[in-house]
Amino acid sequence: MRPAQLIARAAAYLERHGVDSPRATAEILLMHVLGTDRVGLYTRVERLDARQAREFGRALCQRCAGTPVQHLTGEQAFHRLRLEVRPGVFVPRPETEVLVEVALREIREVEAPVVVDVGTGTGAIALAIKRERPDAAVFATDVAPEAVELARVNAARLGLEVDVRQGDLLAPLPDDLRGWVDLVVSNPPYVPEEEYEDLPAEVRADPREALIGGPEVYERLAAEATRWLRDGGVLAVEIHAAAGEAVRSILRRSFADVRVHRDLAGRDRVLTARRP
Ligand code: SAM
Ligand code: GLN
Repeated sequence: MRPAQLIARAAAYLERHGVDSPRATAEILLMHVLGTDRVGLYTRVERLDARQAREFGRALCQRCAGTPVQHLTGEQAFHRLRLEVRPGVFVPRPETEVLVEVALREIREVEAPVVVDVGTGTGAIALAIKRERPDAAVFATDVAPEAVELARVNAARLGLEVDVRQGDLLAPLPDDLRGWVDLVVSNPPYVPEEEYEDLPAEVRADPREALIGGPEVYERLAAEATRWLRDGGVLAVEIHAAAGEAVRSILRRSFADVRVHRDLAGRDRVLTARRP
């Protein structure tokens, strides 16, 4: 069977099992199995060999059973990067690119900015910022050792210098950074406990501790960020679409200029706030 036919069949199979974006998923999995890109896929004339056919079949089954496609391919595109992902570390989401864009805008006028990404996961935000702003000194933290390890692997693979440290929020940062940080950026866990059970299987494939959270984490983050930011420095956070008001009122207590930014779907997605 030619790739085009094979993809059509696989897509129909995924669709019957209720998988979102069945065609794109079939293409991604087949590109992964064949180690090729989209052009290679559609110009290919040979059939799959037995091993490739088996591997493709197995990937389709696992996807239908709820394994995220990123865990099958081991990677995820984010902003202008390709990141390694692993089970046990949160898979970066496209909506977080909004946070990256907002963050980059906030430091546009700052020369050699000092940036801290709190709860970095794969390193997505920190690395995307370093990629766009090679002059920035970028730090990243995460409580989860698996995340710290993977963020370091991604930094090394991409040749981007980011200082990744393990610990709670901003605590692992070097002490002499106090008062010198231009931007604290974070996509913290914000899914309410009661929404967790209703999430699709591929979202629940992310570690629970990376997902579940709420106002408390923003309170602690705001309190700590004020101690590390310089005067006029900015805190930029991703939020749950329904949490705009709650998080805004938390940030208003210690910050000025609190603003909501929407994503492409028009939902509240990012808040920025300036240290007075
Ligand atoms: N920034 C990454 C991204 O956007 O793809 C990961 C975001 S994930 C929603 C939240 C991350 O915060 C997880 O990697 C989790 O381990 C980390 N985390 C949770 N609580 C934390 C804390 N108190 N201090 C530092 N990191 C924390
Ligand atoms: N946007 C994620 C989701 O898929 C949640 C991210 C987070 O908790 N920060 O629900």
